[in-house]
Amino acid sequence: MTMSPAPRAVYLDNNATTPCAAEVVAEMLPFFTEQFGNPSSIHAIGAGVAPSIRTARERLQKLLGAAHDTELVFTSGGTESDTTAITSALRALPERREIVISAVEHHAVLSVCEHLAKHEGYKLHIIPVDGQGRLDLKAYENALSENVALVSIMWANNETGTIFPIEHLAQMAKPFGILFHTDAVQAVGKIPLRLSNSAVDMLSLSAHKIHGPKGVGALYLKRGVKFRPLFRGGHQERGRRAGTENTTGIIGLGKAAELALAGIKDENIRVRALRDRLESELVARIPNSIVTGDIEQRLPNTTTIAFEFVEGEAILLMLSRAGIAASSGSACTSGSLEPSHVMRAMGIPFTAAHGATRFSLSRDNTDQDVDQVIAVLPGIIERLRAMSPYWSNETAAPANFQPAYS
Ligand code: PLP
Repeated sequence: MTMSPAPRAVYLDNNATTPCAAEVVAEMLPFFTEQFGNPSSIHAIGAGVAPSIRTARERLQKLLGAAHDTELVFTSGGTESDTTAITSALRALPERREIVISAVEHHAVLSVCEHLAKHEGYKLHIIPVDGQGRLDLKAYENALSENVALVSIMWANNETGTIFPIEHLAQMAKPFGILFHTDAVQAVGKIPLRLSNSAVDMLSLSAHKIHGPKGVGALYLKRGVKFRPLFRGGHQERGRRAGTENTTGIIGLGKAAELALAGIKDENIRVRALRDRLESELVARIPNSIVTGDIEQRLPNTTTIAFEFVEGEAILLMLSRAGIAASSGSACTSGSLEPSHVMRAMGIPFTAAHGATRFSLSRDNTDQDVDQVIAVLPGIIERLRAMSPYWSNETAAPANFQPAYS
């Protein structure tokens, strides 16, 4: 009996995490063994590590277009950077009791701010987005005042890839003396950034989204911005983040930043073309499928397509069986499948939001990967719809995108 070959693994969940690049691993390895010293030590084994950390900082500075390498503080990842930025701003401006965020922030920002509102009495302005995930600029403008300590708005959304006009938003906040933070975990390495001369005060990033290791990231702090550390203790990171440095992680982040910058034009053009082909072929072959988010202002690697009258989880399981890793816009909360807060904020009807499926590509993806999804997904959706009580051939009509949420 001949066995058919296992399907080739196709990884299209790069907004969740990316594999470490081989060059990144190679640069990290010596720092586990020969160069294991503590960079704060006086002896050569420790002190010898410091120049490599400096190189990592400079590489990251270049990727961000920051004016000074000392504006970067290494952390344990996006979540720590977000929490540090938020709590720092509130402690730095204690007389101000209001915070402004968008309705589609990652939970690393949303949950912290909701907690502060609930338990510490801050007034939280959650700025809505429209059906394409674009920020309501009028509501944003109305929320700004001298009572606001912090604006925290993501540079690009992790589910839809929608890019916010961050420089414009930061400029709008400036006259009020508000501290402006952006969660750029999904934007860094995917779109060119230039922070020198920017009105952005703080920016969060994470290594594992750009082919670096997990558990390491950075917070950009514009020179002169008021700052209160989250961790106190040793004097690492110029007193801004106590704790022995994650040297291997930092070296890995530096290398990942260098590789991202090298590929930011050519690779992203190639990835965008792959994403666009995947998207247009799927929409053409699968009726009642709608691309979500702002089609014009979007990360080059991301598409979330809402397939009406199917469950996202079922799609993911069947894709996984076919060797394809993607992700959904739903979160299973207490046994019921709730569409994500991002889909809800955009007013995507339940019948479509439940089937929202995210494909997030990276420089590792190929035409063959896209071909494989195009070959299997239409059949999967057809089979699932055949089992759905909500689907009939009469249902196959242009999607009605009236907001279905109260
Ligand atoms: N912010 C955004 C937009 C993200 O997508 C993520 C990760 O999914 C995070 C923050 C959290 O980053 P980390 O996993 O490094 O803590």
